[in-house]
Amino acid sequence: MGFIEKKCTKCGKCQEVCTHSVHRVDPIRHEIDFARCIQCGLCTDACFNHALKFYGKKASGEEILEIVMKDMDFYRKSNGGLTVSGGEPMVQFEPLLELLKKAKKNGLHVCVDTSGQASRDKYREIADYTDLFLFDYKITDTREHKRYTGADNRLILSNLDYLCKSGSRVILRCPIIPGINDNKRHYQGITELSHKYKGIEAVNLMMYHDMAKGKAVQIGEVYALQEIRTIEAEDKKEYIPKLKPADALNSEKIKFKNNVLEEDVL
Ligand code: SF4
Ligand code: SF4
Repeated sequence: MGFIEKKCTKCGKCQEVCTHSVHRVDPIRHEIDFARCIQCGLCTDACFNHALKFYGKKASGEEILEIVMKDMDFYRKSNGGLTVSGGEPMVQFEPLLELLKKAKKNGLHVCVDTSGQASRDKYREIADYTDLFLFDYKITDTREHKRYTGADNRLILSNLDYLCKSGSRVILRCPIIPGINDNKRHYQGITELSHKYKGIEAVNLMMYHDMAKGKAVQIGEVYALQEIRTIEAEDKKEYIPKLKPADALNSEKIKFKNNVLEEDVL
């Protein structure tokens, strides 16, 4: 459940209907204890100001496919298809596999956007039904990777190696986050991977933005990268020279991407 504070008039209707004491509303404040919510939907229905809403909904592979197939003509004309993303789609592995199998059967181009942090067996199983992997590569230094993500990057690199050597098509997606991974070692690591694997068709350097910040506040989460500023389009010029020592400008594969406009700047 999400809460959009600026729409709330503190009318208290949500507090009246909620049987789990999630809302505490007075004329000045509206406090929400998200952990107590069982997502029954009574308060979202009761809020005429649309200050409360649910993000996402449960759907079976069949239901998702039905929605996707409505645009099949468009995919044919645009060379588009289905991209399964997340969070991490491998976390819901059984429904993912079911969806991918059905999608392939229906002739869809299928793309999976993944962090690479799942078992080898799972990647082996979905590889036959996946035309393209959008594969995250966050930090080259394994200790730094553990520090920022909670796990080192050995499994990720091993899965990347497996996918590339077994013939899967891969686009490496690298978020560039100021002060965390915008360093020479990481750029060098990205460049080395792009040279090492033919299966890596392209490398997208994705400039950090804080678009998730507002959503984090709405669902009662703490936004972990509070202090990090969004890299604006004009700042990207600063970052391009940083790639030079890593020889990345010699690689046709590596492109900066503006996350919003998807505009190449190299
Ligand atoms: S019902 Fe909606 S407008 Fe009223 S207090 Fe709750 S969230 Fe705010
Ligand atoms: S969804 Fe249900 S449990 Fe959750 S806050 Fe609203 S009324 Fe309470």
